[in-house]
Amino acid sequence: MALRLVVEKAREKMARMAPDMVRLGLAVGTWGNFSCRVTGDGLGEDLMVITPSGVPYTGMKSRDMVVMRLDGEVVDGDLRPSTEWRLHAGIYRARRDVNAVVHTHSPVASGLAVARMPLPPILEDVVQIVGGEVPVATYATAGTEELAANTAAALRDVNGVLLANHGVVGVGETLEDAFTVCQVIEKGAQVYVFARLVGEPSVLAPAEVDLLRRLYREGYGQPRRRCGG
Ligand SMILES: [Zn+2]
Repeated sequence: MALRLVVEKAREKMARMAPDMVRLGLAVGTWGNFSCRVTGDGLGEDLMVITPSGVPYTGMKSRDMVVMRLDGEVVDGDLRPSTEWRLHAGIYRARRDVNAVVHTHSPVASGLAVARMPLPPILEDVVQIVGGEVPVATYATAGTEELAANTAAALRDVNGVLLANHGVVGVGETLEDAFTVCQVIEKGAQVYVFARLVGEPSVLAPAEVDLLRRLYREGYGQPRRRCGG
């Protein structure tokens, strides 16, 4: 498919999904951001389409989405990109299997991030969708290359991480997948905190974690389409 068409489809899809950041309780105000990787015929390097800085999710239009190279050069768009564009670019460089990144400030998962406590493998959905324990990436200032590097390092084996004193990052093959990762982490964090209030949470054994992941990979759900597809 021609690159221009892929980019337009990605922008439209992102505009359709933007209100979900608020509707699903993943973002407050204009904080948080999301992006997807686009590839096209004859394109030497990948591009990403990312949400603009400081625009309310409920009013975001497809034209507001910013198209950029992974080195930060804006290719198309009238607005400034999210200040966390380095975080997104760093993840796309480190994980070739990732085509979408969602960054949220959802409250309970952010609470774990402030306590710098990983979310252990306590629930089937967290294990299957995130891939096991949700680690805490080493602290770095928002918007920096250091945060991008720390996050990419923590994402080596899983699809979601907590950012120390900051929030959550979820990644996936599609935007839907990355949104689901962030939702499942927030729900898992709520369950974990509640379990700690009423008792001692039981963590799933490594063999059970492996089995759940294998069963999920082998047979759950329907085929999905990538960004712009
Ligand atoms: Zn943030």
